[in-house]
Amino acid sequence: MITVAGLATARGYASGPVFIYRGDGEIPIPQYIVPSGKEGEELLRLKRAMTETRRDLENLISVLRERTGKSDVRVFECHLMILEDDALTRETESHVVDDHLNAEAAVRRTMDGARAAFGRMNDPYFRERVRDIDDIERRLQKQLTGYNRNPYRELNYPAIVVADDLTPSETVQLPKEFVLGFATNGGSTTSHVALLARALAIPVVAGLGDITSRVSPGEMVLLDGTNGALTINPDKETIEQFNALVRRQKELQESAATRIDAGRLKDGSHIDIYANVHPGVPIAGVREHGARGVGLYRSEFLWLNRELEPSEEEQFCAYRDAAIFVKLLGDKSSITIRTLDIGGDKTVNGITSREANPFLGNRSIRYLLANRQVMRTQLRAILRASAFGPVKIMYPMVSCVEELREAAVELESVKRELDRDHIEYDRNIEVGAMIEVPSAALNAAAIAEYVDFFSIGTNDLVQYTMAADRGNEAVAYLYQPLNPAIISLVKMTVAAGHAKGIPVAVCGESASDPVVGLMWVALGVDILSMSATFIPGISQMLSRLERRDLDEYAKVPASLPQTSTAQEIFDACRAWLARKTPDLEEVL
Ligand code: PEP
Ligand code: MG
Repeated sequence: MITVAGLATARGYASGPVFIYRGDGEIPIPQYIVPSGKEGEELLRLKRAMTETRRDLENLISVLRERTGKSDVRVFECHLMILEDDALTRETESHVVDDHLNAEAAVRRTMDGARAAFGRMNDPYFRERVRDIDDIERRLQKQLTGYNRNPYRELNYPAIVVADDLTPSETVQLPKEFVLGFATNGGSTTSHVALLARALAIPVVAGLGDITSRVSPGEMVLLDGTNGALTINPDKETIEQFNALVRRQKELQESAATRIDAGRLKDGSHIDIYANVHPGVPIAGVREHGARGVGLYRSEFLWLNRELEPSEEEQFCAYRDAAIFVKLLGDKSSITIRTLDIGGDKTVNGITSREANPFLGNRSIRYLLANRQVMRTQLRAILRASAFGPVKIMYPMVSCVEELREAAVELESVKRELDRDHIEYDRNIEVGAMIEVPSAALNAAAIAEYVDFFSIGTNDLVQYTMAADRGNEAVAYLYQPLNPAIISLVKMTVAAGHAKGIPVAVCGESASDPVVGLMWVALGVDILSMSATFIPGISQMLSRLERRDLDEYAKVPASLPQTSTAQEIFDACRAWLARKTPDLEEVL
């Protein structure tokens, strides 16, 4: 038995056999004859695929240069040379022009020729190059076919999925009924995979180093997402202890879910608690866990794993169904639909372009303002859905007031279009801004003039303030929601919002951490929005506290020396909460 420590990425416990996810399999290659006159288009497809493949390789090389030894880089430099080889390129083009083969079949024919030539050589070094040809062809064929195989095809039993890392697209494809938990080599606590796993109540331990090579398929493991550990081949006693912990956690959850009024304090006052929702994940948890409504609807999940963007009708149906569901939750419910928050680690084939620095690039509201038709289609779909339920619009990644001015012009124009078409919508629909870029927090007073509410996205606010990639385990130690700088930005946002008379929410995952989420409330945040499964835990805490306790809690950071670290602040807050709610210490 060995226990490997990692990052506590999504709370919860799971035990079961290992399923090692190793990515995708055979790519089906289409073969057809290109009609005369259409060869030019086919050549263009080929050229685009080659350009994308080159960019892929160049990116990979620059990342590897920083992280690893020269020999790893050399392999890919060699791939780049083969890809750009004039003779091979000319041969492939001639298969398209002269033999009328489609690009995929042309690439296959050229590569088959190269494989045969290398395979015939006596020198083992050159025979090995066949693998390189396979690799390059695979990259090209993926670009051409948009191949995206369901990587979980063989996962047909309940298991702990062990992987290098998972993209959001890979995570959304998982057969939820069979995934007990995730253990990954890389990743971090606020990567989108982690968020999605939390929404699904799947525990995750990330940053486990080389865990994919330390476990074997079918091997028994215990996954502790609350403390960040994976135990391989546990002995009987450890299994028993672990099962006792699982039972205790379950009891706490169940007692909270059945007895606690979400967000109610001991003195009867109330904190509004909403849920974060991903399209494609059942929305029923919102009601089961007592959320007042949906504080964050991550619309971009409608875009993942597909070649074409969702039509207005498809978007409308998704938003409308969610709006109707939320309307039934009660009078004061609402659903905040966030416009397409694409880019960064949320890439979509054929939509997001490759950028050297995607987290600082053309993403979220920037992308929409640069692609007005996509923006107008989405706004139309959201407005149409607003006729069916209490819908609000929220723009992500707002950096400056210009963006909100521009967005308002577009929204007004779409409203006029709907008026012309006699289509109903909520004329007073509220519009909000996410505060997740430091410039927006610092300039919150001006931003407040343009919107009806704020929602602080701490996942990104921490990333951008600390200049620490939220998905990179190497800098996870800098991911500090209670860093004094973040506390200041939250306070500034609350003050600016309240001065304008608009509510301030936190919809970043830090809202669900009892120690941190309660601090936001203590600092004046009106609404917490989190993965629904965490609502009972936070509600348990709130039910044991009064307003005046929260006022006292707000003073804990300031009571420490100004030179305190984020960890010292966190520890002091945790100790304060543990004193106030001793029976809940183990869930803190
Ligand atoms: C955030 O940044 O805190 C947030 C809620 O948005 P996302 O995690 O989807 O970027
Ligand atoms: Mg964000």
